[in-house]
Amino acid sequence: MQRVYLDNAATTAIRPEVVDEMANVMKNVYGNPSSTHVFGREAKALIELSRKNIAQRLNVTSAEIYFTSCGTESNNTIIRSCVNDLDVTRIITTDLEHKCVLESVKDLEKRAKVDVIRLNILKDGNIDYDQLEELIKDQSKKTLVSLMHANNEIGNLTDVKHIAKICQENNTLFHTDTVQTVGHYDLDLKDLGVDFASCSAHKIHGPKGAGFLYAKKATHIKPLISGGGQERGLRSGTENVYGIVGLSKSLDLALDELDAHISHIKEIKQYTIDQLKEAIPGVAFNGLSEDLEKSLYALLSIKLPFHDSLIGFELELAGIAVSQGSACSSGAAKVSLVMSTLYTDEEIDQMTPLRVSFSYETTKEDIDILISTLKKIAAKHQLQNA
Ligand code: PLP
Repeated sequence: MQRVYLDNAATTAIRPEVVDEMANVMKNVYGNPSSTHVFGREAKALIELSRKNIAQRLNVTSAEIYFTSCGTESNNTIIRSCVNDLDVTRIITTDLEHKCVLESVKDLEKRAKVDVIRLNILKDGNIDYDQLEELIKDQSKKTLVSLMHANNEIGNLTDVKHIAKICQENNTLFHTDTVQTVGHYDLDLKDLGVDFASCSAHKIHGPKGAGFLYAKKATHIKPLISGGGQERGLRSGTENVYGIVGLSKSLDLALDELDAHISHIKEIKQYTIDQLKEAIPGVAFNGLSEDLEKSLYALLSIKLPFHDSLIGFELELAGIAVSQGSACSSGAAKVSLVMSTLYTDEEIDQMTPLRVSFSYETTKEDIDILISTLKKIAAKHQLQNA
């Protein structure tokens, strides 16, 4: 049976070019980057070259990039340090953030007694920008705004440049989780004007276990992990040298081939939308997912017009890997917080959400297999309801 992978928002296949580069480092550069002898200096040089490259590609300085193990660590470090070290006593965020942000914020709310404001979410999955602007203007408390750039479940894009401007004008810190957008868009972090951002290599055909956080020079966050003082004191622990090299290489490949990838993936997404509409009457899309410009082009959040709690298994039997909700954390197929924010219980009882996410490797043949399987599942539900 042909296997079809449509879960690229959860993770991507590592590119052979990245593997080659990493294997070369694994075989030949094994010094500890903190050692002062030549073996260590070689490893250190690779880290600094990678940092410089990543910084240049995102139009920031090397001093603003700190390597971490993943997006989760980057987001945790930023949010917790804003409260612990930068005197933040109020966080403005949403219920639609990735779990690593939701849980960090919840923990701070409980333990550090931080005021947390969760923004209203409109029917289309967007935040209420007017409410946000009003809240930011209240400067009675030092505030951090934490809003993801692209939602990992429905794909809605946040206007981070607009929010960054309002935050700047009102002495407010702004963190945006860019785990789903670095390498998918040509981001200029300086121009966007955000204070903090995050990245995870495995979302862009790089290795698992490597990521970075961006912290604007003027913001002096402190470490979660202390020890030998690596990463200029922000993140102790011997560096994942080949992971960092792989991260830099994967970002290079993603950005060098960006235009071709965007046009291919957009075509695949539009094809999926068109084929679904033809095959399954009543199909719809969650949030702004159907809009190729207002949502992440690599992700489509489908709203099937029937309830099927076993759909994940049925697709699995047909060799198709997708995700229900975000599912990149636990794998559990329960109603996600995002869906329960967007829909009432009655609405949820009459639908099935399905997230399919594409890569430059996804083909129309993959989509045809998905559509014919979904068509059969939909027909079964029609028969049951007849
Ligand atoms: N933020 C978003 C928006 C994500 O989609 C993910 C991935 O699941 C993360 C953070 C966490 O990244 P990582 O898997 O590298 O910890």
